Amino acid sequence: MLKTYEKFLKEFDNRIGGYFKAQKDNIMCKEGCSGCCEIGDYPFTQLEMMYLMQGFKTLPPMVQRQVRSNLMQVKQNRVSVHLFYKCPFLINNRCSVYKYRGLTCRTFGLAYLRDDGTVRLPECVNDGLCYSKVTKDGILCTEPVKEDLSLLNITDGDLAKKYKLEFGPSRSLVDWFPN
Ligand code: SF4
Repeated sequence: MLKTYEKFLKEFDNRIGGYFKAQKDNIMCKEGCSGCCEIGDYPFTQLEMMYLMQGFKTLPPMVQRQVRSNLMQVKQNRVSVHLFYKCPFLINNRCSVYKYRGLTCRTFGLAYLRDDGTVRLPECVNDGLCYSKVTKDGILCTEPVKEDLSLLNITDGDLAKKYKLEFGPSRSLVDWFPN
């Protein structure tokens, strides 16, 4: 299943790469910027989680220990499942499992049109970053990506069907780990 998922990811990344290219004038993402991973709830499906853990196993023991320690800290401080948190896989402002990151992670930075007609803006618009120059009073004054890139839409989408992928249930990243 993970081999098929990798084939799916190749096509998915190509599609997302095209969106980033088309939107490049509005994108401020750069090496070392990790705002999207600093605070969020990071929904991951079961299949994405299996892939992420495959990546985790390739990390040097020291980095694995750091991720585990981050995870424990988040879990200890997370008094409510609704609380956002820093992703435990973020080490020194970099994703330690970049190749294995989730689908939502791959869309960070893009503004897209949801199926209900609303626009999903990246959080960093409020920090003067992505799309901030083309947003006024929370309204986007340019064309967003015209595909709903929410996780459910991706996992139920044409590409997932093409590869006959079963993503399984979705949970916040840290909720996949027992207490
Ligand atoms: S898995 Fe990587 S890209 Fe995704 S939120 Fe965590 S650190 Fe960021």
